Amino acid sequence: MVNTPESQTVLAEKTALYPKQVGHWIGNTMVGSESLAEFEKRNPHNGEVLAQVARGAWVEVDRAIENAVTLFPQWSQTPIVKRSEILRSATQLIQERSHEIAAIVALETGKSMKDALGEVSAAIEMGYFIAGEGRRFYGRTTTSAVPNRMAMTVRQPVGVCGLIIAANTPIANVAWKVYPALLCGNTAILKPSEDTPYSAVWFAQRLAEAGLPEGVLSVLQGHGEDVGAPLVEDPRVDLISFTGSEPVGRYIQKTAGERLAKVCLELGGKNALVVCDDANLDAAVESAVLSAFSNAGQRCAAGSRVVIFDSVYDAFKQKMIAQTQALSLGNQDDNDYGPVINETQLTQMLQAVEKAVSEGASLLTGGFRLVDDTHQGGYYMAPTILENVRPDAPISRDELFGPITCLYRVPDFEAAIQLVNDSPFGLTAAIHTKSLHRANRFQELACTGVVSINGPTYGSEPHMPFGGLAASGNGFREAGTEVLDVYSEWKTVYTKIDPAEV
Ligand code: NAD
Repeated sequence: MVNTPESQTVLAEKTALYPKQVGHWIGNTMVGSESLAEFEKRNPHNGEVLAQVARGAWVEVDRAIENAVTLFPQWSQTPIVKRSEILRSATQLIQERSHEIAAIVALETGKSMKDALGEVSAAIEMGYFIAGEGRRFYGRTTTSAVPNRMAMTVRQPVGVCGLIIAANTPIANVAWKVYPALLCGNTAILKPSEDTPYSAVWFAQRLAEAGLPEGVLSVLQGHGEDVGAPLVEDPRVDLISFTGSEPVGRYIQKTAGERLAKVCLELGGKNALVVCDDANLDAAVESAVLSAFSNAGQRCAAGSRVVIFDSVYDAFKQKMIAQTQALSLGNQDDNDYGPVINETQLTQMLQAVEKAVSEGASLLTGGFRLVDDTHQGGYYMAPTILENVRPDAPISRDELFGPITCLYRVPDFEAAIQLVNDSPFGLTAAIHTKSLHRANRFQELACTGVVSINGPTYGSEPHMPFGGLAASGNGFREAGTEVLDVYSEWKTVYTKIDPAEV
């Protein structure tokens, strides 16, 4: 990326779309905090302050929960087709203004407009897919063992939902939770990441414009412990749906689980991509580079471990280093990826690499912050590849959520699958092979929620379920029709018919 006069002009135009003050969204209005407390939101591309954001506290959480409780009877009894029409209309408004929301996402995250537009279109597809479910809200009808009795199942809403999300793909993360939560008849309080406050409010504004009644959806800004934790702890909140890190997920499972609230967790990954001796090496390198570095490695499905058969290890390594060193970083459409989300995240990455090297890892490329004129002040980390790391070393096991990957040499398929499954996480895995037999064996044996054959470790689609095993989640799947199981509960209905009354 380049800080040329033209790119500065584009940045200035985009910045004009971002309010200098970002508030909560409560009662279909953007409001500040009662305490007047604020925090700074910085642009990851140059480190400059983008906005002052209202820092929420218990008083705002309480107001939003009260609204959600009050509105629940009305919204849950609104016919689902009507609810889905509101969601569809909001999606149409988002589609009409997709460049505007993409510019907001690009500013918040530092990613290019091209990547931001891709993310916006994923959110739009999710909107249309979920709105369509309003006319397919199927249950089951079946027979009964009892004479003159009918049996069926219907879905019912869960209640008040606390939706807590991460910053990596902000508008898609919002869409994945808000659309199905509202479709199913729940009221909701959305707590976006402190790094991406405005995209969530902008989304809520489109829903309001499309006719969502005041109070059905609130957006609360602030830090996890100030705004997220009270949602997790409050007995009026029936469901917590969380996308974020494993430690926070464990706290939520324990705390909300203790009060028997429903909990859906979409957590991290340490996803492996296997390169077999019969792989198309060029295609495998391309997938490995995209998996490791696209979106600056800030994907739960990022390919942070590359497991390579011994006989092709050196050839693969050379090609991967060359392709990695050719990547360009910046916030323009011809750049490959942008900055990480904040300074703290960048510092943690650099420290993790330094520690791994001090413990014997070899740094093949990267491992440093970009501080040249074009990346001045931004949170840019060079794409980083390590080798000679132990499978039990922290760099092999901890999710870093940045542009860092490790290479592992294995003798054969058995050793590869063993390494793939030697992880606390179980989100995604990929294999590159021409063998149908290997590919099928791999998808059987990989202990993950998603398997990709001859592709990257990421790439979920809105009509397909997504989620992981072990420390990657707690068994729920988001997206697909499977997401309806998060935001609704089954009710079994028996009807007795009296033939004498006919
Ligand atoms: P994080 O856990 O630090 O924060 C996520 C959200 O939780 C934020 O909104 C934050 O404010 C909130 N939070 C923090 N502490 C809290 C607390 N005590 N109580 C309630 N809420 C709290 O995660 P992050 O660093 O922002 O995001 C990266 C993580 O998200 C990675 O682990 C990544 O793998 C994961 N992620 C998972 C998926 C998935 O679908 N599985 C998708 C995207 C990101």
